[in-house]
Amino acid sequence: MLENLSNVIYQSNNIHSNLLQQLADVDTQLSEKSLLLNRFKDLASQYESDINRLSFIIESHTSISTIENSGMCPICNNELPSDSARQHVDSFETDLELIVRKIKSLNQTRLDFKIDFSLLQKQKEKLELQRICVADEINHILIPDEKN
Ligand SMILES: [Zn+2]
Repeated sequence: MLENLSNVIYQSNNIHSNLLQQLADVDTQLSEKSLLLNRFKDLASQYESDINRLSFIIESHTSISTIENSGMCPICNNELPSDSARQHVDSFETDLELIVRKIKSLNQTRLDFKIDFSLLQKQKEKLELQRICVADEINHILIPDEKN
């Protein structure tokens, strides 16, 4: 009888240690994901300010009717390509399209990470509940209720 009991305690302790290990793993994953989510957020706001800046540059360039085909751009003071001033404005538009594509893909990644993150949080809650149950069982065996 005593042997059985110590066997049960031994097994329950093993289950408890295992759950603690799983909880630690989930916590590690959660902090890694949280760190990345913060980085993604910073990157997204950087892209957003790039988009605003480029949109403003493009807008200011379209407000002038002609750009000289050589020398410096009167709007942004950058050197103009000798063959076509249109290329100058086009290059901003190409940059803008690139960043818009980047932010779209970044936002998709952020969404995937957020879903992963909340799944891990649910997993953590479940593991924690299991751990509490096992800890209770161990406590009940070691310190039985007076009623029993
Ligand atoms: Zn310019």
